[in-house]
Amino acid sequence: MVDALYIHVPFCHAKCLYCDFDSRACRDRAAYETYAASMIAYLGRLGDVGALASCRTAYIGGGTPSVLGERLVALASAVHMVAPDLTEFTCEANPESFSGKLARSLARAGVTRISLGVQSFDDAELRALGRLHAADGARAAIAAALDAGLDVSCDLMCGIPLQTEASWTATLDAAIATGVGHVSVYPLTIEDGTPLARKVDAGELPEPDPDFQAWCMEEARHRLTAAGMHPYEVASYARPGKECAHNIAYWTGRSYLGLGRSAASMLDRATYDALRGDLGAPEAADEAARIRFVQTTDALPGGGDGAPAYELEELSAREAAAEDLMLGMRMSRGVGEGMLAYAREVIGTDTLDAAIDEALSRGLAVWREVDGTRRLAPTHDGWLLGNELYGLFWDLADH
Ligand code: SF4
Repeated sequence: MVDALYIHVPFCHAKCLYCDFDSRACRDRAAYETYAASMIAYLGRLGDVGALASCRTAYIGGGTPSVLGERLVALASAVHMVAPDLTEFTCEANPESFSGKLARSLARAGVTRISLGVQSFDDAELRALGRLHAADGARAAIAAALDAGLDVSCDLMCGIPLQTEASWTATLDAAIATGVGHVSVYPLTIEDGTPLARKVDAGELPEPDPDFQAWCMEEARHRLTAAGMHPYEVASYARPGKECAHNIAYWTGRSYLGLGRSAASMLDRATYDALRGDLGAPEAADEAARIRFVQTTDALPGGGDGAPAYELEELSAREAAAEDLMLGMRMSRGVGEGMLAYAREVIGTDTLDAAIDEALSRGLAVWREVDGTRRLAPTHDGWLLGNELYGLFWDLADH
């Protein structure tokens, strides 16, 4: 069963200076049209075999899906046709290619949520990142989405060149003032090969300061929590009921299918075997319990451009259980007894309990009562030192 569907749109109006995502600067409407038409046809083929009928969430990301304009509306409608029981349907957008008209059309097509790449409410910082929008454009895009009745998430970034404590707190306050229900906060990373990396290498810009970024993350937690948004995941804050169900599916071991080049999928063995033929994906090894795969070419199965190619990662039951524990600890509610009991079976009680004891003794995790059940959850230190906590559980994958 596929629980979550992701569709990748690989176009942006221009490349941001820090970006190493799989996206290309493109303003060619014919390319948009071809891409949307081939994705819609592919969705139809998957719909014909009922592959997406069980999806509960869908997410069109990128890139910048909103550059597709009305073609994005057609794509969203096609998603809704083949996955009629969605409880959440998100489209990513950037302010410069988003409007009230597009917001209303997307809402009519069944989209429920917009994730806006805002990054900062400071114009000088936005220019330093090579973003195309200004802070007023971000405010207008958020207002347009909210007016259309859509839930809105806003991405913010810390450690941007020129950013100060004052400008970061102003950005947080500006995000809160817009009335969005969800905020994601990321530290800027300098990725090799990007224009920003070249500026850092040339000494024109300093590396982001990890201490400043840690302060920013703490300040975000403080301000967003005070404004009524709870930190339900290491980088995600939401008003009650506005958590991103699609991302929660990723963090709780649900099967998800990603369509388009560079889109990642993760399917349990039975679902993979059932869909492999329709996806044009290779056979997996007998011992694989979970298959993660990424499409590495533009071609879509049955699209007439040749067969797609995939990179496969095959996980044993033990590796899948360790991965579920690691991802579960990203979430404030942590992991419950059901997942722990399964992990004990697969990994071994003594081995798992030793890892839990270490997380407890190092102050990275704690037993917590959530909705009447006992859960192993990250502490504040576990949130700050996430890589140490996740490493403890991921190491259980080794035999
Ligand atoms: S809008 Fe997003 S995907 Fe596009 S270039 Fe900028 S950071 Fe990359």
